[in-house]
Amino acid sequence: PVDLAIVTGAASGIGRETAWQLGRSGYFVGAVDIDAEGLEEFSRKAHADGLSAGIFLADVSDDTATNRIFSHVATLKKPLAALVNAAAICIFANPEDISLDQWDRVLSVNLRSVWLMSNKARPFMVESGRGSIVNISSVHAWATDHLVSPYTASKGGISALTRALAIAWGKSGVRVNAVLPGPIDTPLMRANLRAVGDEEAEYAKLSASLALGRAGQPVEIANVIDFLCSAK
Ligand code: NAD
Repeated sequence: PVDLAIVTGAASGIGRETAWQLGRSGYFVGAVDIDAEGLEEFSRKAHADGLSAGIFLADVSDDTATNRIFSHVATLKKPLAALVNAAAICIFANPEDISLDQWDRVLSVNLRSVWLMSNKARPFMVESGRGSIVNISSVHAWATDHLVSPYTASKGGISALTRALAIAWGKSGVRVNAVLPGPIDTPLMRANLRAVGDEEAEYAKLSASLALGRAGQPVEIANVIDFLCSAK
């Protein structure tokens, strides 16, 4: 049977590009997101391009919703070869202005979700003796900027959690890696620019500060993730 790859955050940006790229590489893709419209759009494009994909509407920070995802995976009878945790949100505010609910929401969607999804994927991967989990951390795990403190904390957490899972599960054949992108041109990056000032002016300033003179494109990260999923 065809290998299954699950991608969270698959309705937009890096997740959507990754889901599409993994479909091109021959996986059956399970695209997970909370954005129904974005998922439908992904599904239409995937099928028009001849890819095999199914969509799953779920909040990845929710224990029950993630249980439903994996109950469904069990019915598919396809080896779960890859899980890409790309879903994330960001709240743009100074640390002193963040509410408790905002803090908890960002940490739940970005970090708890990685633990929930990975933990529930693990038994399927152990059963087939192989599997690759790729978590999207961020350059913010190392060096950060103003207005993104819960996001930054979540990304530092993802990097640390990735190392913990990698050593815990490596000997059972489950590889766990993280990618730490710099600025990539997606709706999330555009929202960040608008939170700071005029979008185009901020994009010009950002580009000038970057080695390539431009932000990255989602496909440049999707290709790296596809590679990390591929080695067996
Ligand atoms: P994006 O906003 O375009 O896509 C994020 C997706 O996650 C959206 O489709 C959204 O609906 C989904 N999502 C949000 N909350 C969810 C939830 N609770 N359950 C399920 N899905 C949910 O953002 P992007 O820039 O493509 O980001 C993808 C990943 O890359 C994120 O982890 C982000 O932190 C990371 N990243 C992005 C950049 C960048 O510059 N764009 C840089 C470094 C890391």
